[in-house]
Amino acid sequence: ARQESSSASDATVVAELEKELTGVANETETVLTPAAVRQRFVNPLRSSQGEDRNYQPKAEVNVAGDNPSIEVTPLSSQPPSSQIEYNEPTIITPPAPKVVIPKQRPVEVEGSIKHTSSLNRTFVFDTFVEGKSNQLALAAAKQVAENPGSAYNPLFLYGGVGLGKTHLMHAVGNQLAKQNPDAKIIYLHSERFVADMVKALQLNAINDFKRYYRSVDALLIDDIQFFAGKERSQEEFFHTFNALLEGGQQMILTCDRYPKEIAGLEERLKSRFGWGLTVAVEPPELETRVAILMKKAEQAKIDLPHESAFFIAQRIRSNVRELEGALKRVIASAHFMGRKIDVDLIRESLKDLLALQDKQVSIENIQRTVAEYYKIKISDILSKRRSRSVARPRQIAMALSKELTNHSLPEIGDAYGGRDHTTVLHACRKVKQLCETDAEIAEDHKNLLRLLTS
Ligand code: ADP
Ligand code: MG
Repeated sequence: ARQESSSASDATVVAELEKELTGVANETETVLTPAAVRQRFVNPLRSSQGEDRNYQPKAEVNVAGDNPSIEVTPLSSQPPSSQIEYNEPTIITPPAPKVVIPKQRPVEVEGSIKHTSSLNRTFVFDTFVEGKSNQLALAAAKQVAENPGSAYNPLFLYGGVGLGKTHLMHAVGNQLAKQNPDAKIIYLHSERFVADMVKALQLNAINDFKRYYRSVDALLIDDIQFFAGKERSQEEFFHTFNALLEGGQQMILTCDRYPKEIAGLEERLKSRFGWGLTVAVEPPELETRVAILMKKAEQAKIDLPHESAFFIAQRIRSNVRELEGALKRVIASAHFMGRKIDVDLIRESLKDLLALQDKQVSIENIQRTVAEYYKIKISDILSKRRSRSVARPRQIAMALSKELTNHSLPEIGDAYGGRDHTTVLHACRKVKQLCETDAEIAEDHKNLLRLLTS
């Protein structure tokens, strides 16, 4: 259909593109709850599409709270560095653009598509707290900052919302700018790319647009999941991407999920994203959450007792943005009430948030519900019995525990009679696969989800 558009009139092309842009505007406002994020990002049971089914992640993302968060696939016998995927980039020549719009008047889009100053100066490596959950991503980002345009191109960071992807991306940009003040480093949200492209087309300035994006030293594009379903933008981006790779200019891309899992993204883009280095950013474990709170308090010149930081970190487990939000509320309350920050004050100022946390589904609740549903005993679920009538419900319960709680794989294993985390991982995969192939299991799973979450 894209090819046909080359023969369509400019007006049609622009109208079509405006549609793309409208789609963008609607998507922007989506506010994701932690539960929704978990569902979208790490739901091991979410049916994937087409060829994705065979995809076996090298590292299992662990949304859960307090424990190490990258689980290397047991099938992999490679050392931990295998969590970083690296393929030799192949240089390809971009095909000629299909839509050629004659330039009719001098255009001044240049100014409107400059984003040089868009780097957030506060997002630097110094303010980024390192933890197990972000270690790999941080190391990769630092590598790229030291050696832009070399092996790790593009650097692809993925993970749920509020985990520091944008921060890391800016940190690289800021460091590159510091090392070379003349470097043209462009940060932009993928929606901005789409909007700029539409504008350029409306102004018959698509060639300026192309020239502009291809002239950068580093291009940082955030949240590329917003390219999903926007075919024309993907095509344009594809060409830009190829040109930059060929020119050895560094690209950093972020996404809220593993690239292969983005529905509505062209295969050729998905595969190309994997040419450099793909690294997951994961939810921080307890220690890191405490360290982040202490760091943020220090930056705000607030005296935050360690005990208070610990109290907040224990309860707010979803992501760093929420953690920061909670801290800001506590600081504001302390300020308005003229009180010192302590656990009592935190309890008061975060009352509603903490109440929400309490309502979260617990593993015990899941075990009870699954046992009732299958008319078996909870002790059967926890036992070592391997008969199918027990083993299957147990696997479903484990998978649901991963899906619906913040617990890590080892924590879930413990809660199921001291099983190994690889057993839990296996259960998650098995259930996901069964949900796609076995209608009865899929139905059971759906019913249980409804029972547990409504
Ligand atoms: P994402 O892009 O993954 O949604 P952001 O990069 O916007 O997340 O991070 C959300 C907030 O949390 C930002 O204010 C960021 O500075 C902060 N943040 C995230 N991770 C860390 C970290 N490891 N250390 C310090 N601050 C962090
Ligand atoms: Mg972001």
